[in-house]
Amino acid sequence: MTTHTLLMPLDMHLHLRDGVMLENVAPLTAYSFSGAIVMPNLVPPVSTLEDIQAYRERIMAAVPNDFFEPYMTLFYKNYDKAFLESVADEITAIKLYPAGITTNSEGGVSSFDIEEMRPTLEAMSNLNIPLCVHGETDGFVMDREAEFMSIYELLASNFPNLKIIMEHITTKEAVNMLDKFDNLYATITVHHLLLTLDDVVGGMMMPHNFCKPIAKRPEDLDALLSVALEAHPKVMFGSDSAPHPQEKKESCGCAAGIFTAPIALQLLCEIFEQYDKLDNLQAFVSDNAQSIYGLCPEFKEIILEKRPFVIPEHYANVVPMYAGQAINWAIASVD
Ligand SMILES: [Zn+2]
Repeated sequence: MTTHTLLMPLDMHLHLRDGVMLENVAPLTAYSFSGAIVMPNLVPPVSTLEDIQAYRERIMAAVPNDFFEPYMTLFYKNYDKAFLESVADEITAIKLYPAGITTNSEGGVSSFDIEEMRPTLEAMSNLNIPLCVHGETDGFVMDREAEFMSIYELLASNFPNLKIIMEHITTKEAVNMLDKFDNLYATITVHHLLLTLDDVVGGMMMPHNFCKPIAKRPEDLDALLSVALEAHPKVMFGSDSAPHPQEKKESCGCAAGIFTAPIALQLLCEIFEQYDKLDNLQAFVSDNAQSIYGLCPEFKEIILEKRPFVIPEHYANVVPMYAGQAINWAIASVD
């Protein structure tokens, strides 16, 4: 039996939601990951010390063991320095959403006026709090991420000591940015290493492949694969696993988000093996993130084995990506 071992996998971009959904999905991530950056786009968003502490407690109550660390994030607004100092020990990053661009982002940033943002971003630089960014404009859907590159340039050049993470990148333009600025990093999802727009709307419309940013062109997929497979040191795995109830996906007005949390490591093994790059997977799913964020996750060892695994049709009321399809890798054990 061919096996592959991963140590302390980290999901650097995760949506756990709240309430019953949180209770259903958090254990699935806690099973196979040592930790995850938990996104703050609840209703209302996570924006006070009390919000952070209470959400963390709800997450810990939902996971059945202690071997999982939720790395908490704050929803970006302009905050004063004293407030940021008071929360710095409780958070791992601050997440910036352009207003209205994705699920529960209505209270996000509506104009990128650098001078208005400067006090907050300078305080974050000084306190070494990374800025995670959902980088899309409100332009044409296929161009939104590429159009956002000028804003990344503005942020990266004005705040050279601020770690800026381009979240869930989907384009060759974003890949090209990585080597232009020392302080720009990126997360990549597993679905964006598999899908192009054709897999969403090229044939029948596939709601479970629909997410924001939407999957792009074949050349974009190739650019993402090139940096992920080589485990480019500024690139980390972040699933952007985003659960919605089945009826919100299979409906008129399909919610954006792909659910991959329980199958991400298996799919990544399959992709990396296919390109004969399994040796680089450890860096992509953990080591790069540990050095970029300075994390020391709890020990966890995942052994995957090469055997047919049929992806479940549902996890509670959530339909995962590739539901019902067979893939070649399964989780054999977690220690
Ligand atoms: Zn997200």
